[in-house]
Amino acid sequence: MNLILMGLPGAGKGTQAERIIDVYGIPHISTGDMFRAAMKNQTALGLEAKSYIDKGELVPDTVTNGIVKERLSEPDTEKGFLLDGYPRTFDQVQALEQTINELGKKLDAVVNIHVEEKVLIERLAGRFICKNCGATYHKVNHPTKVEGTCDRCGGHEFFQREDDKPETVKNRLSVNIENSKPILAFYQEKNLLHTIDGNREINLVFDDVKKIIEQNN
Ligand code: ADP
Ligand code: AMP
Repeated sequence: MNLILMGLPGAGKGTQAERIIDVYGIPHISTGDMFRAAMKNQTALGLEAKSYIDKGELVPDTVTNGIVKERLSEPDTEKGFLLDGYPRTFDQVQALEQTINELGKKLDAVVNIHVEEKVLIERLAGRFICKNCGATYHKVNHPTKVEGTCDRCGGHEFFQREDDKPETVKNRLSVNIENSKPILAFYQEKNLLHTIDGNREINLVFDDVKKIIEQNN
């Protein structure tokens, strides 16, 4: 199963990805997570990415396309992959087409999680993440079951993303809204696009995701 998860920042891609990888066992390839790991380790990639991420801008296509190509060439993607947060520009769509052709793969479905902007702003303001396993929570919508303990790994340390500050969020949303239109049109044209309503309870959204996966596997 080769899947793309699309949706604006805060739509619930990471939240649904956690559930998809638990059920289907395919690797989760999140370019945002890859950049954050590189920033944490202060690699050359991390230092370059930071200057864009801190402003809510996109990391240049050549850099992003390169890391995705490298990751999709790894053997664990033979059983499938879940791309999250990529492609985000039309140049990335074209690079991905070329990469998957070269690797002899094909896309099965593009799941687009739709949530209106006002809701996204509230979600990003309340998001917090487990430092140990990366599980995503929300102060109001999706707190941990036991306060201060991650449901998934039992970890006790959490963080809020620097780029979830209101000043950065506005720019991130406008950059992503503008770029997403031609991408959605491209996958619609290829009959791969499935848009679902992401403004519902997490498990209900996941029911829709599962249906799409089962129907296209
Ligand atoms: P993305 O990966 O698309 O940026 P996340 O999965 O990190 O989005 O979700 C953003 C925030 O919204 C998180 O705080 C998460 O707990 C919360 N969230 C995710 N899905 C839902 C949902 N269906 N309803 C309410 N809140 C949600
Ligand atoms: P995310 O975790 O998906 O919200 O991504 C966080 C930030 O990483 C984005 O605001 C961008 O600066 C950068 N980023 C993530 N994915 C991409 C991508 N496909 N293209 C360019 N920049 C990206």
